[in-house]
Amino acid sequence: MDIVVAFPRSSEFEKAKSRMDFARLSYGVLSPDPGYSFVGAPALICDPYGLATLQSRDEELIAVAGWVDRKLGTVAVPQRPPREFQEDIFGQAVVMFLAPCMADVTKVRLIAHISGDLTAVLPYLNTEIRSACFNAKSVFLTFMDKHRLITLYPRRVTIGKADDLVDGWRTFEFLRVLANSVWARRAAIPPSYDMKSKPPALEIYERLPRTNCKACGERTCMAFAIRLWRGEATPSQCEPVFSPEYAGLRGALIEICRGLGVAGAEMDTVDV
Ligand code: SF4
Repeated sequence: MDIVVAFPRSSEFEKAKSRMDFARLSYGVLSPDPGYSFVGAPALICDPYGLATLQSRDEELIAVAGWVDRKLGTVAVPQRPPREFQEDIFGQAVVMFLAPCMADVTKVRLIAHISGDLTAVLPYLNTEIRSACFNAKSVFLTFMDKHRLITLYPRRVTIGKADDLVDGWRTFEFLRVLANSVWARRAAIPPSYDMKSKPPALEIYERLPRTNCKACGERTCMAFAIRLWRGEATPSQCEPVFSPEYAGLRGALIEICRGLGVAGAEMDTVDV
């Protein structure tokens, strides 16, 4: 069994489990309980035949957030219940998207919708997180958590280059606690609306096709990444990334360029 299948809700996981039982297929369960129960639903571990069974068009549709290869040696789910907050500005996270990260196929990309609204806490997080890049106009905040690229929107959180699903749950829980803790201390924190820093140009480079085809007029993708980083180019100047071949890179590239406030990135559409 080598695939981890994630679901947005426990009810979809239960439907999937029933279908596997009915088909007499073996599977494992990866549970976010108790430590990550506010930010994840149980996932199934199965083989490719099990995944095909879950996606069968002859049966009732099961909502799947995505699937990735299973990795061994992941971080363990904490065995204590998650921290609760009197004022909960984050709410609960629902993982809507899980896929290999096109910037690094050994990692995964996740998108979660949250039941709270982070709009009011983002300026305080911008003050507290030294490496944060806040776009007050479009209302989102980006920062690096080690190798992970995190973007917080009012009702959505994206993580690029998480180690695996459990690391994604760990990161969503870290963000939930961070947002609520900062919100609880907001009276002592001056809000900041400035863009203090930018994600490294290398993060942009990793979201380009990296073929050095020169179609953008630059000799290398790295040179183009640096021009994007400086705000001297727009993502649409890299035509290959808008072709179906590189569709998996496009959303993450536009997202990071929007975080930098790159002109043109605002008009491009993000596909997830
Ligand atoms: S067009 Fe895109 S893929 Fe080609 S060199 Fe420029 S950045 Fe790289």
